[in-house]
Amino acid sequence: MDRAEQAAVDSVPSGLYIGGRWRETAATMPVHDPATGRVLRAVADATPEDGLAALTAAADAQRDWARTPPRTRSEILLRAHRMLLDDTERLALIATLEMGKPLAEARGEIAYAAEFFRWFAEEAVRLDGGYTTAPAGGSRFLVTRQPVGPSLLITPWNFPMAMATRKIGPALAAGCTSVVKPAEQTPLCTLALAEILHAAGVPAGVVNVVTTSDPGALMTPMILDERSRKLSFTGSTAVGKALLEQCARTVMRTSMELGGNAPFLVFDDADLDAALEGVLAAKMRNIGQACTAANRIFVQRSVIDEFAARLAERMAALPMGRGTEPGVVVGPLIDAAAVTKVTELVADARARGARVLTGGDPVDGPGNFYPATVLVDVPDDARMCGTEIFGPVAALAPFDTEDEALARANDTPYGLVAYVYTESLRRGLRVCEALETGMVGLNQGVVSNPAAPFGGVKESGLGREGGPTGIDEFLETKYIGVQL
Ligand code: NAP
Repeated sequence: MDRAEQAAVDSVPSGLYIGGRWRETAATMPVHDPATGRVLRAVADATPEDGLAALTAAADAQRDWARTPPRTRSEILLRAHRMLLDDTERLALIATLEMGKPLAEARGEIAYAAEFFRWFAEEAVRLDGGYTTAPAGGSRFLVTRQPVGPSLLITPWNFPMAMATRKIGPALAAGCTSVVKPAEQTPLCTLALAEILHAAGVPAGVVNVVTTSDPGALMTPMILDERSRKLSFTGSTAVGKALLEQCARTVMRTSMELGGNAPFLVFDDADLDAALEGVLAAKMRNIGQACTAANRIFVQRSVIDEFAARLAERMAALPMGRGTEPGVVVGPLIDAAAVTKVTELVADARARGARVLTGGDPVDGPGNFYPATVLVDVPDDARMCGTEIFGPVAALAPFDTEDEALARANDTPYGLVAYVYTESLRRGLRVCEALETGMVGLNQGVVSNPAAPFGGVKESGLGREGGPTGIDEFLETKYIGVQL
């Protein structure tokens, strides 16, 4: 690490943030740089008792936070928004060092993350209610909205800053306190965020952060504790299902942002230049490690050869290296297991007849690198068509008809996002309506936007984050029947 990198890493507190104070723990856990394998620093490794202490702090702060005027909550969020933007260079460097993404993308993530605070600052002062007459006359319906209460927020490693603000923003705006648990591999962004929220004026106990190497042991007692009223989780479908079972015991409200298996459809009337840019964005953002990553790329038969050749040329030219190096697009994958998984998926597809146009072979260490890869003729029964590749591998297959493309696109238990490229308005809207996903990019390769409702159907999750309804995830509706 050079001096700037060391300074950025050292600037982050290493303890647990509970009740507005930093606490060291007896045990610590290492945070690694996925590009080199070196330890960046050690951070606190919370025990289940630490977790319950954080929940106590959140529960104790709940009443006062719920009573804090919406305008005050909004102004704190706006201050935090500005502080994140002003601190972009340091925070982006921290994200790149612990997660591996190229610095340019990390800067984009900080801007995206900050925007959730601005969006929810604006939503905090717009909570609506109602006062209506019962259909039979007489009584009145008074409907108001209240914070759901202390919330547990669990985030993944792939967007360590944005997934945290996407949950903390609406929780704060709605009047909920929270305990945030970042991923073991990327705790530094959330710890830096806690310090910013403190400085922005978030009162003690309103946001708490606990880091751990044993998430099940830490979170289970908190989830089963009746003081917790909400779990908002972003991560894999497998863990999400296990957490849903735990939440059932206390009938806890949940939001689940889970895995994806996005189909990317290119019709023969598409603007191929635009489709190429779109697929590069949808595939290569975060080195392919996004829930929204284009996982299965279906291209109409008459244009697939040209499209695949041009994509392979572009992918082969993408610079690979440590995310801090200028111009790098293909950073390291998060860990060695991710490289092994991608390697096995590519080997499986090749064994089933897929052809490699570029990449396809792992790179010698150090670091967890896998080259940008384009495969064509990937059969639907290849393992990579049924699971998230989570790496820089574009899997292409031809299709003949719209019905066939739709049937294959929908043939998955996941339903987060899909992408459609066509110049036909009729076909575009028809296909968008028929796709079984929570989101569709029509002639665009990125759908994420704090002002839009993000989320999936089927096994991709429950609820929506961001957008006009994002705050609803942290609110209860209360109806008061009024007899005049
Ligand atoms: P993951 O293994 O499910 O972990 C996600 C979070 O859950 C981490 O903080 C993890 O902690 C924690 N966790 C794991 N086991 C737990 C348990 N038993 N109890 C409580 N918490 C537990 O997922 P990941 O590999 O970090 O993230 C990648 C996945 O997230 C992909 O499937 C991706 O599609 C999905 N994702 C979805 C969205 C969306 O909005 N739909 C956005 C981004 C990512 P540890 O790190 O300590 O294991």
